[in-house]
Amino acid sequence: MEVLRKPEWLQKKVNPAAHAEMEGLLKELNLNTVCQQARCPNITECFRQRQATFLILGRACTRLCSFCSVAKEVPLPPEQGEPIAVAEAVCRLKLSHVVITSPTRDDLPDGGAGQYASTVAAIRTASPDTKVELLIPDFQGDQEALKTVLASAPDILGHNLETVPRLYAIRSGADYQRSLRLLADAHRLEPALKTKSGLMLGLGEEEDELLAVFKDLVEAGCSYLSLGQYLAPSRQHYPVQQFVEPERFERLKEQALAAGLLHVESAPYVRSSYMAERYGETGEGT
Ligand code: SF4
Ligand code: SF4
Repeated sequence: MEVLRKPEWLQKKVNPAAHAEMEGLLKELNLNTVCQQARCPNITECFRQRQATFLILGRACTRLCSFCSVAKEVPLPPEQGEPIAVAEAVCRLKLSHVVITSPTRDDLPDGGAGQYASTVAAIRTASPDTKVELLIPDFQGDQEALKTVLASAPDILGHNLETVPRLYAIRSGADYQRSLRLLADAHRLEPALKTKSGLMLGLGEEEDELLAVFKDLVEAGCSYLSLGQYLAPSRQHYPVQQFVEPERFERLKEQALAAGLLHVESAPYVRSSYMAERYGETGEGT
């Protein structure tokens, strides 16, 4: 298939020199970020503002989504010192809001839920005022894993649906209904906790399919949503089907809010962790 040329609204420049200090700290603490791993186009902007999304549980994923650049390596056991190292980075970077995520670890008995909980606990001890947002995998529908994470009391719990159900073949090993159920279960078990999801646009989805997903999310009690343009990490990954115009992102934001979402970030460069502090600023609370 022909590779589409990026339009002019997707020409953000990455300037590695501008975030050398931040990268030095991450290296010193032996921490991974999704910002680096996923080659996020917002990295210069976010690192300059000392915002990062920490990738716990290693760099290797047990699934092979065709749109994702996470390392295709053999997963290693969780590192015991990782929660403390993340907490130290949060303190040294003076983060008021931190996002923690991981690759999917279907090889671990608890899917990595215990490491998420330990990381939240370490951050709470080291930096009690920092808001902690978790972006979790589906834990293969394991309720106990979800309960372990919920018991650690994060401020926001995210799980990305990524795309509309028809296109789930590109999310190897994932299941739309199972992902939706995770969000619904989190809301049922902890009604006061705000849940969040994210979708990538430009994968071939239709507008009516997106509206149906917005409705599903609202029915699952989800409060927050991010909508951003999918960018293929390389020519070997699933190709971009469409570059969605900024105006359409605006329109979809209005439609998602009208469907009942409380806060929606929607623009070509939005990622689920992009400007994560903004969610909850519009009066609906976190
Ligand atoms: Fe990437 Fe998540 Fe898919 Fe793993 S499960 S390949 S981390 S998108
Ligand atoms: Fe990192 Fe998220 Fe910013 Fe990308 S948008 S650089 S993943 S914090």
